[in-house]
Amino acid sequence: MIRSVSSHDLQAAFLDHSIKTSGYDDHRDYIGLSTIAECPAEIYRRFFDSTPASVRRRLKTKASYEIEEDLKARLKAIGIYSPGKEISLFDGMVKGHTDGELFGALLEIKTVPLDDHIPQGKIPIRVYWQCQAYLKYGEYSLCHVLYYSREDGLFRFFEVDPHAPTMNLIEGKLERLVRAVRTRTRPACECGKCQDPEGALQADGHR
Ligand SMILES: [Zn+2]
Repeated sequence: MIRSVSSHDLQAAFLDHSIKTSGYDDHRDYIGLSTIAECPAEIYRRFFDSTPASVRRRLKTKASYEIEEDLKARLKAIGIYSPGKEISLFDGMVKGHTDGELFGALLEIKTVPLDDHIPQGKIPIRVYWQCQAYLKYGEYSLCHVLYYSREDGLFRFFEVDPHAPTMNLIEGKLERLVRAVRTRTRPACECGKCQDPEGALQADGHR
């Protein structure tokens, strides 16, 4: 029986377990539907990025997963929850993982740090696009988005209906991204924030 343990050892053991069970996907060799609204150049960069995630990133992932599991348990307890599924497209190069279903409708869970971060009107465009992608490729006719604040535990449900024009934009974007990855051709930046690695090198060479 352990009679005493130092806070240093506690810290190390707790951290080790937390990291090992964080659920952080280090070998994410696919284009995720969850971030399909992002800049194509950034999605492309991430596809080939092999930098290991920081400890902080892993702990954050674990914390969000734990909250999500708790919320799913609550939905299960009131008898309306069934598990999500994996969506796989383009021979597995594009994937999405849904959070679950409520009476056959799609469920998407978003946890936010503060009560004020729960949308008052419309949900953010990146979440809207994620929902449209899951609605399209998961063949759902309705999506419930559950926003949950880690500050006071406040929450709010939103409904998203399928929107064909957005789905068509997503389909076109995915086709361009898959082609870019297969041919290793970096797509043009659309956000204005991405650095062009080759451009930066060329600029260096001309200095
Ligand atoms: Zn960009």
